[in-house]
Amino acid sequence: MDFMKTYKIAVLKGDGIGPEIVDATLRVLDVVAELFGVDFSYEEGLIGGRAIDEKGTPLPEETLELCKRSDAVLLGAVGGPKWDNLPTDKRPEKGLLRIRKELDLYANLRPAKVWDPLIESSPLKEEVVKGTDMIVVRELTGDVYYGEPRGIFQENGKRVGVNTMKYTEDEIRRVVRKAFEIALKRKKKLTSVDKSNVLEVSALWRDIVEEEKKNFPEVEVEHLYVDNCAMQLVRRPNSFDVIVTGNIFGDILSDEAGVVVGSLGMLPSASVGDRYALYEPVHGSAPDIAGKGIANPIATILSAGMMLKYSFNMDEASALIEKAIDETLKQGYRTPDIYSEGAKKVGTQEMTEKIIENLRRLAK
Ligand code: NAD
Repeated sequence: MDFMKTYKIAVLKGDGIGPEIVDATLRVLDVVAELFGVDFSYEEGLIGGRAIDEKGTPLPEETLELCKRSDAVLLGAVGGPKWDNLPTDKRPEKGLLRIRKELDLYANLRPAKVWDPLIESSPLKEEVVKGTDMIVVRELTGDVYYGEPRGIFQENGKRVGVNTMKYTEDEIRRVVRKAFEIALKRKKKLTSVDKSNVLEVSALWRDIVEEEKKNFPEVEVEHLYVDNCAMQLVRRPNSFDVIVTGNIFGDILSDEAGVVVGSLGMLPSASVGDRYALYEPVHGSAPDIAGKGIANPIATILSAGMMLKYSFNMDEASALIEKAIDETLKQGYRTPDIYSEGAKKVGTQEMTEKIIENLRRLAK
């Protein structure tokens, strides 16, 4: 009897370049399945603009049900000019916010790694950025974005804007634990970012990190104030491994880390909770190039690589995908968004084929 392991993946292609880059990624996953003796089954669901067109809502119930009965979710991107004028609560992006909330995806993982063949696309000097390979773990469901009270009120006849920065102990602990666990799978260094010199929320954050540190003695812990961290990210980006922080600091720092290493078309992400996980590129649906066959599929392929590592414990397969991409870049293949003179310009299909060729070769 054959007990081949089967993983069920919910596939939400979305809008714009979403279908092109997700199709490319599924081709890569099929090869991974073959090389590693597992089985991936894909079931598609609607999300975003197409879901609005066909079902009248950016996140139909059946899509949510599909995600809940799958082992992981792979998402392309949503949105586009066609839906830009809809009221905010009916827009494609609302589908994304809702899916994260419904699946309780409280940790957002944003790797930022410099690829040697693309090192010139970093705005920093080569010697500063070389070797950078970090991951920002951002809390995603709490903080000043969700705290109550919030609103614009009247006070002594003048308007006053109010938001509340708030974290419960449990909310901090679960994301901090997640970050420690990720650090264990990497270089075992954790930087916790807060503003504990000014904010009580941050003082609590720091206490919890110190408490949790005892459960992960192999991991080296550093605390940085957020302003200092913003500076260190451009001064010594290659000294970071895992950064963990709250929602608003993480929002800013994860974008900064992404810019430090280069192109949008290369940045993967994951949003994970205790039961569910969703993997998607950082970039949007790129309506300006949709349907032209020139979208860079690498961010989505790398997101699938994260799925292998964090949802299926297939660390070796995940590493192989990164190696195959590195090799393909070394061979000079570039989609137009990362093209520089002297390189070989290719479209989505050819880039995918080259990555697959390298996967097969490196697996031997
Ligand atoms: P975008 O990320 O879609 O595009 C920004 C620029 O980068 C464009 O010039 C685009 O062509 C280019 N680009 C992005 N990804 C690329 C890739 N894989 N290969 C080659 N080039 C790539 O951001 P935008 O233009 O501000 O937004 C477009 C739409 O996407 C909007 O409707 C926006 O709301 C939506 N959006 C969705 C998500 C998401 O689904 N997570 C994220 C951001 C924006």
